[in-house]
Amino acid sequence: MKQPIGFIGLGNMGLQMANNLIDAGYKLKVYNRTAEKAQPLIEKGAELADAPADAVTPGGIVITMLSNDDAVESVVLEDDGILKQLGKDGIHLSMSTIAPSTAEKLAQAHQEVGSYYLASPVLGRPDAAEAARLNICLSGNSTAKERVQPLLKVMGQKVYDFGDTIGSANVVKLSVNFSIVAAIEAMAEAFTLAEKNGVEPAKVAELFGETLFSCTVYKGYGKQIVEHDYKPGFKLSLGLKDITLALQTAQACNMPMPLASLVHDQFLAAMAKGRGDMDWAAIALEVSEAAGVE
Ligand code: NAP
Repeated sequence: MKQPIGFIGLGNMGLQMANNLIDAGYKLKVYNRTAEKAQPLIEKGAELADAPADAVTPGGIVITMLSNDDAVESVVLEDDGILKQLGKDGIHLSMSTIAPSTAEKLAQAHQEVGSYYLASPVLGRPDAAEAARLNICLSGNSTAKERVQPLLKVMGQKVYDFGDTIGSANVVKLSVNFSIVAAIEAMAEAFTLAEKNGVEPAKVAELFGETLFSCTVYKGYGKQIVEHDYKPGFKLSLGLKDITLALQTAQACNMPMPLASLVHDQFLAAMAKGRGDMDWAAIALEVSEAAGVE
């Protein structure tokens, strides 16, 4: 019988990832702030924990997939958090997109009680999580990384190891998300330029996606932009969190990121219009609206 795995955070991503672990035969102890969201997993045999600490098996592995830095910190450090319970040789596999500085702070707290913190943010939206096709960035202690490999294989298609420095995987994830939103902004400007000059944006998106920009980001987000399909896969409010973290990380190393600053403002404008729960590709609306396009 495999040792129970703790899983904390059953949102759009976490629920699918936890479900795949159950389907692969793992016994899970799950915790979610809104307990009802755990119901599909309970029906498949998962045990419901009343607090984050109750999801932990001492010396075992606990996974978190929470929205942001504050949520991860509270689930680790508060009185009913995982830190006190995890103990010697326990592993916290932290899969949210958070700041490298938060990862380093939490790794230090774990080290003081003999447990390990691994940074393992993921590339891929909820549909990729459901299909176990996530690409996983990983950094931290090598022995701990070996122990989590079987779990990562169940949840993802490939693991990219960025070494022992805790925050490395987080920096990589932030740079990926910065690059995606830069592409969304670029496409929105290109397609709107075409539209203002009487060219059908869908035809432009087709050309981009089939020729010079034939890649997942341009094809997927290009289609969303021309179809005005902004149902949330990745919420705009979470996108603002990530571009803010990228800028904070850049500031900490004295690096100007003018493009990130521009896109950050687009996110703020979209939030001001109440678009936080739309997909983050909805920043494209800032471009078309500024150009007077309906
Ligand atoms: P989500 O659907 O908003 O789920 C967030 C989860 O965090 C929920 O379980 C929520 O609990 C929990 N949570 C939030 N604040 C909390 C707090 N203070 N204390 C305890 N629990 C708290 O987000 P998601 O889309 O699954 O994203 C999760 C992480 O993955 C984020 O860091 C995101 O940036 C990253 N990510 C997302 C995607 C994507 O496409 N969605 C792709 C790659 C990476 P409740 O259910 O009670 O609200």
